[in-house]
Formats: sequence, structure tokens, C-alpha cells
Amino acid sequence: MTTTPETKTVTLDEIQTFEGKYPKQLWYLFLSEMWERFAFYGMRGMLTIFMVERLLLSEKDANLKYGAIQAFIYTMAFVGGLFADKILGFRKSIFWGGLLMIAGSFTLAFSPEHLYYIGISFTIVGTGFFKPNISTMVGNLYKAGDPRRDAGFGLFYSGINIGALLGGYLCINVANHYSWNAAFSLAGIGMTIGLGIFIFTKRTLGPIGLSPMINKLSASKILLYDIMVYAGSLLVIPFILLLVTNTDYTDYFMYIVGPAAFLYIVYEMFKFNKIERQKLTAALVFIIFSIFFWAFFEQAGGSLSLFARYNLHHSVLGITMDPNEVNNSANSLFVIAFSPLFGLLWLWMSKRKIEPNTVIKFGLGFIFLAIAFYVFFYTRFFADVQGFTSLNVFTLAYLVITIGELCLSPIGLSLMTKLAPQKLHGMMMGMWFLASAYGQYAAGILGAGMATVNEKAPLTEKLMSYTEGYKQLAIYALIAGVVLIVVSPLLRKLMHDVH
Ligand code: GLN
Repeated sequence: MTTTPETKTVTLDEIQTFEGKYPKQLWYLFLSEMWERFAFYGMRGMLTIFMVERLLLSEKDANLKYGAIQAFIYTMAFVGGLFADKILGFRKSIFWGGLLMIAGSFTLAFSPEHLYYIGISFTIVGTGFFKPNISTMVGNLYKAGDPRRDAGFGLFYSGINIGALLGGYLCINVANHYSWNAAFSLAGIGMTIGLGIFIFTKRTLGPIGLSPMINKLSASKILLYDIMVYAGSLLVIPFILLLVTNTDYTDYFMYIVGPAAFLYIVYEMFKFNKIERQKLTAALVFIIFSIFFWAFFEQAGGSLSLFARYNLHHSVLGITMDPNEVNNSANSLFVIAFSPLFGLLWLWMSKRKIEPNTVIKFGLGFIFLAIAFYVFFYTRFFADVQGFTSLNVFTLAYLVITIGELCLSPIGLSLMTKLAPQKLHGMMMGMWFLASAYGQYAAGILGAGMATVNEKAPLTEKLMSYTEGYKQLAIYALIAGVVLIVVSPLLRKLMHDVH
């Protein structure tokens, strides 16, 4: 792609010197990502049930496959980020990822039983190209040091959760009332809208996200490289298919990819000067901590959903409610409600020069995580003799965990764009999501450790077993938070001018 008229119309400086709280381009990225998450969470919410009910897998196998799919998706984000940095640029990566996701959803819609694993494999590779790169583009809307960046990521994060909530709710509803074909089509339509919004608004992004090779190589050479990436990613699909169908390989995959990615980053780091290297080291420290955060947080999809199913009353604030519905939607709802408020809170504090620095925010993320798990533990003191306990207290824990998430997750996205040199933005954002892959993976192992060995154990015993596990998690989260706050002066030194 050479310089097109659209890239001339608006300069980077014009974009980054916007007035007000948010740049207008943020809204377009917000909407594209909202629809992508609609498709993603819509599909995610259907996977396990579909595998059990239609593919007739045992619950255990379906859970294992679900975990593996999640891990592969977030692992591919590293690859997607890397190729965006080196060859495609963010725009073409998003475009290509979106196309693959659309192909994946409609493949599933066409014949969910027969083409299930193929559709999923397309979606895995597509998400890898889309997800990290749209997040990185948000960071590019801001100048270095602009205090409005965290608030921007906060807003973007509510878009993510609006999509997640609607998609997660609607797709499974359509599957229940109409058909699986219609439900997967709905995910495909969501993704098409998301990509459509991106295509129609990308001219407002000026030079942001264009190929890194644009001024270095001829248009035909760039095209050749692009085609090689597109073809290469298509060739990866059969390999992903093999992994998804044989989850026995998942462990080996996880043992290899993370360390390999880590070593690759260390290799890349030596191409930069000392200050840039120290900033990247700080980014890696945040990434490593985030693995622990997600490993605890992602109990939501595993042990907490079982705890909700068996041990909770069906009433919140006097309203009858299925505890699993609360488990599946409370987090997104709280994010939607609080994320913009948090963004404004950071802005308000920054104007008064009392905004906590990023390390402290991260540490607070862990402290809130610890409090939330302590509240999950505390539900045992509200239990009746049969082992049922309060859904109100459980929901309160979700409120607290969400506050923790808002101190860490959008801030983490923002941090990656602050700490990495421009050339490595995509890769570091991919690495941030790779940490999520390991978090999800560890979450399954932790959850399995908390489950009672005897599935037929009385509810009171299950209650004790899960809540004891949550107490342990609370202690570890607290330790992580305290460690972060204690090492914050050192970490801040590594971060140099980034706050
Ligand atoms: N819920 C957020 C999203 O979907 C964060 C996911 C993650 O990093 N694990 O983007």
C-alpha cells in the first residue's frame, strides 16, 4: 500500500492534539471492537454447550477443549501482534483477522456439526490478528505522556464488555430458541458489522496502523510480503486444527510457546538502547504479574460457575435470579457501569496531581482481587445447614473483583503502548494477551485443585472446599499486590518517564 489520499487528509499530530476527553477515532475503534467481542463472546459462550450437546463430548473433555481453544486464541495474539509490527501494520492485520473470523463464524453457521473444528480454527487465527492490534491502535491516538490515555483505554474497555454482554447473552438465546446455525450466523453478522465499521472509518486514522515497510519497500514488494503472511496464516490453520482436535498436545504447546516468545523478546530487546530495554523489562514484569491475576480472575468460567450452580441461593436483592446468570453477566455489567467512571476518576485525580502511578494501580488491582476472594471465602459464614449461601455476598465479590480488573486490565493495555518502542507495540500487546493464555491455562489447574475429589460429596463439603480455595487465592493475591507496591520504586526506575 503506498500513500493514499486518505492518509494525507489527517496527520498524526492532528489526531493526537485533540480537544476534550477522548479523540473521536476512539469511538470508531470502540465500536469495531465492541462488535468483534460480540462475536467472540457469543461464540465462546456456545462452545462448551455445543460440544456436550451436539458433538456428544463428555463434560470433562468439553471443558478441556474449551480451555485449550481459549489458550490457543490468546496465544495467536502474540503471532498476530508480531506480524503486524514486522509486515502488515495494524490496519491490514485487523482487516485480515476480521475476515478470518467472519469465515470461521459462517463456516460454523453453515454446518456446525461437521465443520465445527475447522470453523473454530479460523476463528482462533483471526482473533490473533484482530484483537491485539485494535488495542494497540487505541494507544497510537495519544502522544507520549498524554494523561488522557488511561481514560481512553477505560472507555474502550467498556466497549469490549458491552459487546461481551450482548453477544454472550443473545447468541446462546438464539441457539436455544432457534438453531445453532442461526446463533453462529449471528456471531458472523456481529463480526461483519465490526469489520465494516473499521473499514468505513479507517480513513480518519491518518497514518496510524499503516504497514511499517511503507517507506522502505516498493508497493509490489510489500504486496508480496503481505501475501506471504496471508498464505502463511492459512497454512497454520490445519496445524491449529490438529491441536484443537487433540487436546493432549495442549500441555506441550503451552510449555513451548511461552518460553519461546519470551526468548524472542529478549533477543529483540538487544536491538534497542538501554533505556528502551529497561522499559521493556518493566513491561515484562507487568506481564508476568498479569498471568497470576488472570489465573485467579478466570475462576469465573470454572470453579466459580460450579460454586454458583450448586451452593448459592437463587435471589439477589430480593429478585429471583439464576446464580449462573449472575456469574456470567455481573462482571460485564459492572465493567460497563464503572469503567467510564474510573476513566473520569483518573482524569480528575491527574488534574489534582493525586493520580496513583501505574505500578500502584496494578498493585491495587491485586489488593482488590484479594478482597474479592476473601469475600468469596466469606460466603461460607452466610451458609445454611444444607450448604446454600448468599447470592448477594457472591455478587458483591464480583463488584470488588471488577474494581480490581479495572485497575489492572485497561491499565495494562495502556502500559504496553507506553513502555514498548513503536516498532514492538504489536508484539508487546500480543505478549500481554499471551499472559492471558497462561492465566486461563493456570486457572483450570487451580480450579481443578479446588474441586472436591468426590463429586457426590454433600453441598456443605463442596462449600468448604471451594471457599477454602478462595481464601488461599486471597492470600496469594494480597502477597502479589504487596510485592508490587514494595518493588514499585525499582520498577518505576525501569519505566523512566512513563508513569
Ligand atoms: N475481557 C477482556 C477482553 O475480552 C480481557 C481479556 C483478557 O485479557 N483476558 O478483552
